[in-house]
Amino acid sequence: MEEYLIEGKTGYSLKLSKGQIIKVIDLEGQQIADFVAYHEKNYEERLDPVATRDALQSTDIKVNDKLYSNLYRPMLTLLKDTVGKHDLLSPACRPEMYKLLYNKEKPLENCYCILNKALSHYNVPAPSQHYPFNIFMNTIIEKNNQIEIRTSLSSPGDYVELCAEMDLIIAISACPNEESAGNGYHSSSIKVEVYS
Ligand SMILES: [Zn+2]
Repeated sequence: MEEYLIEGKTGYSLKLSKGQIIKVIDLEGQQIADFVAYHEKNYEERLDPVATRDALQSTDIKVNDKLYSNLYRPMLTLLKDTVGKHDLLSPACRPEMYKLLYNKEKPLENCYCILNKALSHYNVPAPSQHYPFNIFMNTIIEKNNQIEIRTSLSSPGDYVELCAEMDLIIAISACPNEESAGNGYHSSSIKVEVYS
């Protein structure tokens, strides 16, 4: 078993071979982990929350569901989930978002840049934007179709386990957003374990 600590406001990338299992653990609770995945040899194929919603015919993912690529191929299967509420709707936070939504003029740390930096370790080119599987993110669609980001439902030690369905490069950002309720206005650490 390999394990990695991703401190709040930082990221990490690693290779995940087909059949390997990655466990993503929220150490302190209420922490969103932005998760992206690329085909190991073809960076044009990547985890796609829109294709996943289309394939699942749902905005939510549950145990035994798969996460799909933009080519509608299964990339990962959700094996275990102690929270049951994650996000397939929201893009990675980025400087322009902090300006628009929070009126922050100075660029803040953000998942877009954190993921790019992590993926540069494998020479994955920076996309125009990241559309992650936002683990532990509690996004609600209200009856009037308003989208509300509420505080994550995860408690210390809560986790998800995902099994790779193809050879992947993955990256995770411990979302640095302290402006919204999503992370409980505080960014904290994520732990990752990989099993063969
Ligand atoms: Zn973020």
